[in-house]
Amino acid sequence: MGFSNGFRRSGQAFLLLICLQCFPLVATPTPSVIPFEQPVSLIILDAGHGGQDPGAISNWSFAPNGRLIEKDLALELTLMVKDRLSNLEPSLEILLTRDADRFMALDERAAFARRMDPGLRNSAILVSIHANSATSADASGFEILMKQLTKRVLFLDAESENWQIVRYSSISNTMLNQALNRSNLLLGQSMQAALGAAFPQSRNRGVKEQDVWVLNASGVTSILVEVGFISNAQDAKDMVSLAWKHSMAEAIVRGILEYVRLSR
Ligand SMILES: [Zn+2]
Repeated sequence: MGFSNGFRRSGQAFLLLICLQCFPLVATPTPSVIPFEQPVSLIILDAGHGGQDPGAISNWSFAPNGRLIEKDLALELTLMVKDRLSNLEPSLEILLTRDADRFMALDERAAFARRMDPGLRNSAILVSIHANSATSADASGFEILMKQLTKRVLFLDAESENWQIVRYSSISNTMLNQALNRSNLLLGQSMQAALGAAFPQSRNRGVKEQDVWVLNASGVTSILVEVGFISNAQDAKDMVSLAWKHSMAEAIVRGILEYVRLSR
């Protein structure tokens, strides 16, 4: 009896083994993997403006050479963010659209982010760093911009590379756009919370939808951080302080790392 029971059990186990081996070959559909909902492996940092495009300029007696120039601040902060982030999370790949004072067209920046393959079952994010300017000297504080929710991105075109075709073709464009909007908002909120915690005295202008070329065309989860107003006296005083720059870079790193944590 012991033998017969044992035989029956091993026979069932054998059948189960056969079934498990055959099942993936015959019936299991491959689940669609939403590219923007995978763990972040690649961070693309984009220092706004550069070269012949200075961005906003404001004259202040307390600034070096009497004026603040957005492209210089954006690059300085971006390099600080890169250094700090690579120290804290060496496993992340970090790429910069520019690491020197050079001009780069908006479509070039977007194409740079779009063609970078974060690897299968991983995702990339783009964080663009800028400073604001307004005609009213009263406008102050930081804000986070993201692509308009209604702005539809086309993920495949004549220039698409093989890895993009493989990853995007099995998912509808509507689903991809919805997922991109969700991840943009999550990254925007993570960044807003980090900056809010680091600068409670600054005006928190929120996460806003805006028609920005780099955000619309990059095809990856992306936000633009406006760190403050170059045209506001208090913000400008902050911007010439090395301690403030380190705090701002640290806050941006915290915002990125919170999103990276959520993605894992
Ligand atoms: Zn700018």
